[in-house]
Amino acid sequence: MWMSVNDTCGKCDKKLLYDMLKVKNGLVQISKCPNGHKKIKSP
Ligand SMILES: [Zn+2]
Repeated sequence: MWMSVNDTCGKCDKKLLYDMLKVKNGLVQISKCPNGHKKIKSP
C-alpha cells in the first residue's frame, strides 16, 4: 500500500518527501522536509 503524502512542513510549508531509512531489520519509510526541518517515521 502506497499512500500519498499530504503532510507539509510546519516551518517552510514545503511538501514532505518520502525517504527510506536503513535500519537493522531492513528499511523504514519516513517522510521528511526537503529543508531538513522535519523527519517523520511513517507507519
Ligand atoms: Zn521545512
